[in-house]
Amino acid sequence: MIKCCDEHVELALDIVVDEHEVPPNMTKIEDENLSTNCEFCQNKAVYLVGN
Ligand SMILES: [Zn+2]
Repeated sequence: MIKCCDEHVELALDIVVDEHEVPPNMTKIEDENLSTNCEFCQNKAVYLVGN
């Protein structure tokens, strides 16, 4: 699973498609208490991308 912000969600989707060759699921992180950072920058992660 890749955690990412709004800006990097397309990049995350590309990476997962490259690795798994199937369209990934994109889940919005609803829990405000999960203070997770984007894997590509320092923004707060908004989406979980994976299968
Ligand atoms: Zn980001």
